[in-house]
Parts: sequence; structure tokens; C-alpha cells
Amino acid sequence: MSERIVVVGAGMAATRLAQDLPGVTVLGDEPHPPYNRILLSAVLEGTHSPDAVTMRMPGHVDLRLGTRVVEIHRAEQEVELADRRRVAYDRLVLATGSIPTLPPIRGLVRLDGRLHEKVHAFRSLADCERLSTAVPHARTAVVVGGGLLGLQVARALAVRGLATEVVEGGDHLLRSQVDAPAGAILARDLAKLGTTVYTGARAVRLTDAGLTLDNGYTLDTDLVVLTAGGRPSTALARRAGLDVRRGIVVDGQLRTSDERIHAIGDCAQFGDQVTGFVPPAWEQAGLLARHLAGEDVTYEGARTVARLRATGLDVAVLGDPERTDGDVVAISNPVVGSHRKLVVRDGVIVGATLVGELSRIGLITQHYDRGTVLGPREPGDLLMGERPATPVALPDDAEVCACAGVSAGRIRACHSLDDVRETTRATTGCGGCAPAVRQLLATRTLEGTPS
Ligand SMILES: Cc1cc2nc3c(=O)[nH]c(=O)nc-3n(C[C@H](O)[C@H](O)[C@H](O)COP(=O)(O)OP(=O)(O)OC[C@H]3O[C@@H](n4cnc5c(N)ncnc54)[C@H](O)[C@@H]3O)c2cc1C
Repeated sequence: MSERIVVVGAGMAATRLAQDLPGVTVLGDEPHPPYNRILLSAVLEGTHSPDAVTMRMPGHVDLRLGTRVVEIHRAEQEVELADRRRVAYDRLVLATGSIPTLPPIRGLVRLDGRLHEKVHAFRSLADCERLSTAVPHARTAVVVGGGLLGLQVARALAVRGLATEVVEGGDHLLRSQVDAPAGAILARDLAKLGTTVYTGARAVRLTDAGLTLDNGYTLDTDLVVLTAGGRPSTALARRAGLDVRRGIVVDGQLRTSDERIHAIGDCAQFGDQVTGFVPPAWEQAGLLARHLAGEDVTYEGARTVARLRATGLDVAVLGDPERTDGDVVAISNPVVGSHRKLVVRDGVIVGATLVGELSRIGLITQHYDRGTVLGPREPGDLLMGERPATPVALPDDAEVCACAGVSAGRIRACHSLDDVRETTRATTGCGGCAPAVRQLLATRTLEGTPS
């Protein structure tokens, strides 16, 4: 008899795993079929319907929605559901994602423990629908948190016509990913798009008068959206006695301290790395599927590639440029809203930030991935100049889609965008690769690549 593989959580990592693994049972507490969380801001903005963000779950999967797992009974190899029924497993995969953290703002939570009616989280489709329903009745919104998620939400609300403000406690926007000059350029871009940014200010209290900041300002607002961070969802694992630090600790086979239980995605911790992005979640899911199918594979940690998906703002970050040692080569042009920076060590790109102009992202990512040793002038040349007149030709092994880990060669081997989506999953994550994919398909047609 084949092993009974049970997955807890029906989010982005679980869906990717189930697509590659026949006969799994997936237990998800949300009522909706699995969906692409990255595109929630597009749903809020109104450019995508909720149906359009649904992710394909193969027919062979036993998908049980609205099914919350409340306990893991390791000795019996069973999980217990909220309705007290149990499901037996030979292998258990925890893909429980992360949960938003509530910032210490007085007045956010009412006496009955529910959020104040003006206050919204933004993690799930249910959060998105609740916020979307409130938008037509509001004129103003404050987004608490100036990270990737905060900027996505702020742009979406502004596109929906709300006067939107962003409050960020740190001294600049996207402070986990970019430096202060890049953050300032983003704040300027947002201001041009009609959104005011308050940096170095913390929201401390919500009253009928509005949201009060620690600098004494009170922002009169109809909506408050909380986007200030999340943490791995580890409660189940912790109660089951698994090794948990920030996330659920896993080894190179994505095994927890119980060899029958694995963890992937936002809830997992490999070495000291907790991720929080789709590319590593999908990489882990793909690798675990191969491991469970009997292949000899080892996870070696994630490359971080962060793309901001927000109308009118373009940001890509490779690695951790603010915390990686090396020589910094940077060109900042606040007038046109572009900031490009490479961190180079021994000729190799070990981190990069691009704000405002991403036409060179493919080439830079390729050098970053391959660890190409560049000549002394090359880093500067890579950053110089404006958008190239003719697009740079990518070699077959250059990565085009960071979410699904798809190379230019695999795209060229496809005969249509649907084929690309179906066979490689490129463009189905953050969608940032869509222009490059279209261009590769178009060039392929011109070159007459055989199908
Ligand atoms: C609005 C938004 C925008 C984002 N934008 C980007 C982006 O542009 N680029 C990027 O790379 N990443 C982005 N992310 C992060 C990305 O969505 C996550 O990294 C990714 O979803 C991780 O996949 P996961 O499966 O680990 O977790 P999730 O997709 O969060 O799935 C976890 C699932 O498990 C369920 N669950 C938890 N506990 C239980 C339980 N006990 N029983 C049953 N089910 C349970 C949860 O309800 C959830 O459905 C964004 C996230 C959000 C919220």
C-alpha cells in the first residue's frame, strides 16, 4: 500500500506540492479553494476577480476545505480536526504559512476580542473581501506598515480612489529590503501617485477622532489596514513537541525533529532562515515532492528574490543587499525615480536592488545565480544607461521566473503562454516575469524555433 501523505494547510506551498504528488490529502482551514495570495492586492484593486486567482488543484488530490487541524497525535500518527474527527498519516507535511502580527496600537481590538470595525488585516481572501466591501463606503485609508505588503495594499486602495496614507515606524519604506535612498525614491513615487508616507512614526492609538501617531499627529481615517509583519504559524508543531525556533526547524530533506513530519513554506525554518516569499515556498514544495517520490535530493537554503507587485511601483531585490558585505556599486536618480545597486564581492554579484526600472533584472539575476565573476567595469556597465533599445538576449539557462524557477530555455521550448503556464508555471506567481516571457515567446516565433 502506498504511503498516506497528509498536508496541513491548503496555501501556495501545499498546492505546489500536491500538483507534483499523486494521492495526497490536503486539509485547509480556509473555505475557498487554494488561491494565489500574491494577487490579493490585484483583487482589492479590482483588476482580478476572486475566481481568477484560484490555483489549479489536480483531481487526484483529496482536498478538504474548511477543515482546521487542531492537534497532531504523533504516537498514533493521526491529526485531529476541529470537529474531533481524526485523519491518519504515514507522512505529515505542515504547510501552515504565517499569521499577521498585531501591532501594539490601543483601540485596535474591541472588548469582545474582535477587530475594531475600521480595522482590517490583509492575509487571506476573506480579509480581502471584507476590505473590498468596505472601500465604497470610505473616503480615506491608513496603511500601517511600509513593507512590500503595505505598498501593494496602499497602491490598490489609491487606485480604488481612496485618499491613502502609509505609516512606517522605520526611517524609510521597505526597510527590510532596500536602503534609505531607495526608500526615499519610493516615498516620492507614492507621493506623485497621491499617497502620503509618514516614516519614523508609529501609530499608537485608534479613537473616534482617528489614528494617533507617536509624533502627535492624528490621521482622520475611515479604514486602517494592518500590514506590519507576520510570523510563522507554529502553534500546532509546538504543541506536538517538535523543534520550533522562529519557524518549525527542518533539515535538508525538509524533515522536522520527527522524521515522519515535514514542514515547508512560510512556517518552516532551515538553518537560521525563515523565508516568507513564494519562490522558496515553491522550491521547498518541489523538492519535498521529489524526496517523497523516492529521489535523493537535498535542500540547501533559499536565494531570496523579492518582487513588488503594485501598480506604478517597480522593485526587485536579489539576496539581502543591506546586510551582505561587499563593494557597493550604485546609481540613484531621484528625478526619474530610479535606484540601482549591486553588492559585489570578489567580482561576483552577491546582492542587488532595482527600483523604478527593471529592464536589466534578467541579466543581473543570471549573473547573481551563476556567480559569474565580472570584470572591474562590468558592474557599472550593468547599471549604466537607460532601458536598452533592443531587449537583452537571455541565454537558455538564465532564470526568468523566480517564483517557479523557470529558465529562458524552458520558456523558448513552449509554444504559447497557456503552454508556459501549464508546463512550467511561470507567470502564475507574482507575474513579474510576464513581460520577459511574452518577449521570449515572440522572439522564438521570429526565430522559427521548432515546437
Ligand atoms: C497579500 C499578500 C501579498 C503577498 N505578495 C507576495 C509577493 O508579491 N511575492 C512573494 O514572493 N510573496 C508574497 N506574499 C507571501 C506569500 O504569499 C507566501 O510566502 C506564500 O503564500 C507562502 O505559502 P505557504 O503555503 O507557506 O503559506 P500560505 O499560502 O499562507 O498557506 C498556509 C495555509 O495554511 C492554512 N492553515 C494554517 N493553519 C492551519 C490548520 N491548523 N489547519 C488547516 N489549515 C491551516 C492557512 O489558513 C493558509 O490557508 C504575499 C502574501 C500576502 C498575504
